[in-house]
Amino acid sequence: MADSQQGDRAFLGATVFKELNSAKDQPGSDFFPQRLQTRDQPAYTLTLASWDWKQRSWIVRVEPLVTMGQVTALLTSIGWTLPVLPELDDLTVGGLIMGTGIESSSHKYGLFQHICTAYELVLADGSFVRCTPSENSDLFYAVPWSCGTLGFLVAAEIRIIPAKKYVRLRFEPVWGLEAICDKFTRESQRLENHFVEGLLYSLDEAVIMTGVMTDQAEPSKLNSIGNYYKPWFFKHVENYLKTKREGLEYIPLRHYYHRHTRSIFWELQVRLGVPSRPAL
Ligand SMILES: Cc1cc2nc3c(=O)[nH]c(=O)nc-3n(C[C@H](O)[C@H](O)[C@H](O)COP(=O)(O)OP(=O)(O)OC[C@H]3O[C@@H](n4cnc5c(N)ncnc54)[C@H](O)[C@@H]3O)c2cc1C
Repeated sequence: MADSQQGDRAFLGATVFKELNSAKDQPGSDFFPQRLQTRDQPAYTLTLASWDWKQRSWIVRVEPLVTMGQVTALLTSIGWTLPVLPELDDLTVGGLIMGTGIESSSHKYGLFQHICTAYELVLADGSFVRCTPSENSDLFYAVPWSCGTLGFLVAAEIRIIPAKKYVRLRFEPVWGLEAICDKFTRESQRLENHFVEGLLYSLDEAVIMTGVMTDQAEPSKLNSIGNYYKPWFFKHVENYLKTKREGLEYIPLRHYYHRHTRSIFWELQVRLGVPSRPAL
């Protein structure tokens, strides 16, 4: 979905809890203005829940119908993000936790449920339960991928991390299955990489991409891949393979997160035969 459209849909009502505003000296607290976007009547909410002293990170409390597109519209605009952020705009917090939200996982942070610190559920008997790793922990560890069989999720608390404006993305074509697996393994072990992704175009042709968040971009290498007139991301990447060259680009963070949204990975082309625009 084009960036501007998504922005219009960003109707998250985000209110910082008053008691946390008094803790202004806490690291990172100045990133949160007192009141964030209050456009329309908020349908679902994302609020600041607490500061985790041990991990030195903020925790946000999110209602389950909040989508990934809404999360990035709000959080990245104020310099924060989820450590694991599945790409498709419309995936919901509830669906990712209760369904099999393995869509995007992280070599640093794990699966989507691994960044969750608490769940609130209404059980079949109507009771309300909060669970964390130390409170009702059996329920906490049973909730992910339970597809609603244990109860109805009404809120989740999720750790967030500071974000930067761009992703400095390196593209490297690799040939040969063994070389592809080696390269992917090596890059996943390098914790300085914030993002590692490999797209395979046949059994032995791939482009491995490694990304690092940064606030500075070389203007000549800036590529806003989410703009409607840009080629689909997987087609753009394939160009590096076809021309047998490595590349470096700076991609706005939100465009990077939702890089597969417009083409639903390669499903639109496969299922509908819709062609992408030529690479620009
Ligand atoms: C086009 C497309 C491409 C995908 N590609 C990939 C991929 O490449 N890799 C991959 O791993 N996955 C992929 N997925 C799967 C997707 O990541 C998961 O299915 C995810 O869980 C879907 O999220 P959703 O918000 O659509 O959830 P939904 O489908 O709406 O819900 C998922 C499950 O959770 C339950 N649920 C939702 N909210 C609640 C709640 N509040 N309380 C209790 N139960 C609840 C639902 O009843 C359902 O059983 C893809 C999905 C789509 C649609």
